[in-house]
Amino acid sequence: MDIKIKLLGTGTSSGVPLIGCSCNVCSSTDCRDRRYRSSALIEVDGKRILIDCGPDFREQMLQETFLPFDAVLLTHEHYDHVGGLDDLRPFCVFGAVNIYGEGPCIKHIEQRIPYCFGEHKYPSAPSLVLHEIEPFKVLEIGNVKIFPFRVMHGQMPILGFRIGQFAYITDMKKLPSESRPYLEDLKCLVVNGLRHKPHPTHQTIEDAVELINDLDVPEARLIHLAHSAGLHADSENYLPPHIKFGYDGEEINIQCDADFIPVQS
Ligand SMILES: [Zn+2]
Ligand SMILES: [Zn+2]
Ligand SMILES: [Zn+2]
Repeated sequence: MDIKIKLLGTGTSSGVPLIGCSCNVCSSTDCRDRRYRSSALIEVDGKRILIDCGPDFREQMLQETFLPFDAVLLTHEHYDHVGGLDDLRPFCVFGAVNIYGEGPCIKHIEQRIPYCFGEHKYPSAPSLVLHEIEPFKVLEIGNVKIFPFRVMHGQMPILGFRIGQFAYITDMKKLPSESRPYLEDLKCLVVNGLRHKPHPTHQTIEDAVELINDLDVPEARLIHLAHSAGLHADSENYLPPHIKFGYDGEEINIQCDADFIPVQS
């Protein structure tokens, strides 16, 4: 199974540059230092799967081929991950868009954009179908098996996703021990590393490096980067070669040679 991963956005909640900031990162001319809010497009076995749909979704999609999504997976309900759901409207020419998230996230969306749902749906609102998923319960999109697992965003329980030998984690502070088996035998991990200074709800770049090395992942990209993470070019001087800052538009291709079978706990 081949998996194509495209990083549509690699920035933290405010995006980079940060409005009003003139630091060396925010004023950098290196296009890798311009970061949309974090999101990824996964293409596997003929399916197109979007992970998160933040406020930069429209801009991100203007750079992509216009094709339907087979699933939109949501990690959690913070604005930087769901703020672009209304912009799924153009994609409704292909039919209703199926969105998958945990119960609290689904409820939040119904409250955030109520005109898209229920009896009094606004006539030209997007057709969104919300599906509730749970951590550690497989979701099947055609032949593609998606394994949601728990990660902790400070005190807030949110989701990470594993597909084949690829896993995507954003906004994590701590990985619960029950999720650890979901990160064994990976070929590629995309994981958040906010900055160098500790933060109450996100792991640092150093935490992310420690986790990646601990999991023995051969290739990893850091996402959800803040301007204070520093220049992309500088990161190459201190990160080990298999760990890189992700950048917007980056494509990663992996070939999976083993199926993932979760251990029953
Ligand atoms: Zn976030
Ligand atoms: Zn800045
Ligand atoms: Zn968040």
